[in-house]
Amino acid sequence: MKFEIINMYPRPFKKLIDHFASLPSVGPKMAERLVIYLFKQNPEKLKDFAKTLDELKTNLKYCTQCFNISENELCSICADSSRNQKMICVVEEPLDIFAIEKTKKFNGLYHVLGGVLEPVTNNNKLKIGELENRVKESNITEIILAMNPTTEGDATAMYVARAFKDHETQVTRLARGLSTGGDIEYADELTLGSAILNRK
Ligand SMILES: [Zn+2]
Repeated sequence: MKFEIINMYPRPFKKLIDHFASLPSVGPKMAERLVIYLFKQNPEKLKDFAKTLDELKTNLKYCTQCFNISENELCSICADSSRNQKMICVVEEPLDIFAIEKTKKFNGLYHVLGGVLEPVTNNNKLKIGELENRVKESNITEIILAMNPTTEGDATAMYVARAFKDHETQVTRLARGLSTGGDIEYADELTLGSAILNRK
């Protein structure tokens, strides 16, 4: 007789399994294992886990300057005066910033576009106008385009580069070497680090 094994679980268990199973890369089996693991933890740890989860959306916002995820108006990178204020590395998503920061090969500022160009939808949601304003207002000497090496990433990089073709600001792009179709987010630190150093 065939039946869904998941139905054997009490309701809160099942609900939590569904939540975990809806996360990227977590299948139903893994979700079950995670929930059982959590069930075995002490209540304090679980309360802290739940509280942290709750705070994820209530205490975090987007940096008003670069659109990185931040606890304050300005993110820790924008607020750090020891960083090179004349360079902006343009990325698709906040996670790309974490990946580039891990390489320790870039000491400038960032700008999160919030995605890539999509031919069908309108592209107004991308923070390109905000980038132009930043470049106009501060003396930016170099814009580094760090889009993912995908068709959409390439198209977006070309589009952004065009927006600055009449500016004096130098526009560079990460060197090839990142595997095509791969994400910056998943690139190893060494490869990504040398792509930054060898940008052109
Ligand atoms: Zn910022």
